Amino acid sequence: MEKTTNSIHWADINADKIIRERKKSLDADKEAFVCASGITPSGTVHIGNFREIISVELVVRALRDKGEKVKFIYSWDDYDVFRKVPANMPDREMLEKYLRFPITMVPDPWGKEKSYARANEAELESLLPIVGVYPSYIYQAEKYRKSDYAKGIRTALENRDKIRKILDAHRTSPLEDKWIPVSVFCNKCNKDTTEVENWDNEWNITYSCSSCGNRETVDLRKTSCAKLPWRIDWPMRWAYEKVDFEPAGKDHHSEGGSFDTAELVSKEIFGHEPPVTFQYDFLSIKGRGGKISSSSGEVISLRDVLEIYEPEIVRYMFAGTRPNTEFAISFDLDVIKIYEDYDKCERIYFGREIINEKKAEKERRIYELSQVKSVPEEMPYQIPFRHLCNLLQINSGSLEAVIGELKDIRESQKEKLKTRALCAWNWITNFAPEDFRFTLKTSSDQAEAVDEISAKVLRAVADQVRKLDSHTEASLSESIYAAAQDNGMDPKDLFRLIYTVLIGKEKGPRLAGFIITAGKDKILPILEKY
Ligand SMILES: [Zn+2]
Repeated sequence: MEKTTNSIHWADINADKIIRERKKSLDADKEAFVCASGITPSGTVHIGNFREIISVELVVRALRDKGEKVKFIYSWDDYDVFRKVPANMPDREMLEKYLRFPITMVPDPWGKEKSYARANEAELESLLPIVGVYPSYIYQAEKYRKSDYAKGIRTALENRDKIRKILDAHRTSPLEDKWIPVSVFCNKCNKDTTEVENWDNEWNITYSCSSCGNRETVDLRKTSCAKLPWRIDWPMRWAYEKVDFEPAGKDHHSEGGSFDTAELVSKEIFGHEPPVTFQYDFLSIKGRGGKISSSSGEVISLRDVLEIYEPEIVRYMFAGTRPNTEFAISFDLDVIKIYEDYDKCERIYFGREIINEKKAEKERRIYELSQVKSVPEEMPYQIPFRHLCNLLQINSGSLEAVIGELKDIRESQKEKLKTRALCAWNWITNFAPEDFRFTLKTSSDQAEAVDEISAKVLRAVADQVRKLDSHTEASLSESIYAAAQDNGMDPKDLFRLIYTVLIGKEKGPRLAGFIITAGKDKILPILEKY
């Protein structure tokens, strides 16, 4: 199918804006638009942080679909200071000894990677390809320590009065007269407990450390210990990387926030037209305590979300929601609805479900952007999530048994079904409401004690199950009601009775459909005990 053009999708609108406003910035030494994202790996990267990455990815995809060249960079701000040990970290006592160090010098508490920062980076970097996100990573500790930004630091020093004015406009108390726009990690004790005392108007700065008493003069072109404070570092890097697009969260986009000041510093100090941007909103979590990161330490990351959502559906949730809209990632019953919505979107894309053309156009574009790889040539095998959950529970979680029962699935479609089944089983076992969960009894389970009328009803239902092949869901349903009526039993009691006998609970999935799904071979041996 042909790619949608003139789409009204938010990613396309932003791509058009970037082309309109930044095309002139493309020249001989810059062939591609630069789209940027980044974060400080000071802890587990949570799903709210992922919103920024996926927002950039979707715009990058939109630009490429329009035939543009794009460089997608992801900056790890791993030369930031380690301020606080997050609640979910192991070996807190060890970590606390490294407070005020650059996070790149804090040891990995899991003992696998070369540093704490690297451990947090590696975790996300291993997950992003699963959802089709492939940025070029830039490691700020490496850049600063190689003095790649020495010129940028010097430019900031030369313009410190102008920068001070920009920052002071949004501060309640002005910066001190002796303020110098450089931070230093002490060369002796590695902490940022330092004060820059002097700049020689060229490349040398002198600092002193209040932790260890070290005092020394270093050359910005050679030292690995100096960096710019965040509000200056950000625009310096926009200029350095020639960034055309970077969104930011509400916290940075507030009035007088770091984006506002970065725009001015970028333009007035570093001579770089600030990038196209938008603000993305916060995410919340539903069905799992509400917060992305709770005081008890649980942090909801992309890994957690991928445990219950297929990669395409993770993309779908973000592609289908405007970035400036707050939404919740659900772990409760809404999971079923999200899967249903995605399947519907897929049917619309493949013309199997017809809706109003304008809406259909939008849905088709959302579907394209949701794909991890290219759009499949034919419609993938669809199995409703709710039905799959029931099938899995009927078969005690065995995917092989479920596949064995699906007669219409082709070999090539099994891989995708397997992903969905793993998600479904994770959801049932960890998050599904108690009402939703069941275990089908077997002939070796002990029979329930029932009265004579109940036993008669169960035998009548068993008779219907014997000829299950000739029943539809509706006719089976009718005959079950008839069995109750014939024996003077209230339908309410009837359902309670049958669910108790089959799954040991008073409620369950829709009965007739459930019996048909489970099949004669599983249901009859249970009923025949009565
Ligand atoms: Zn020191």
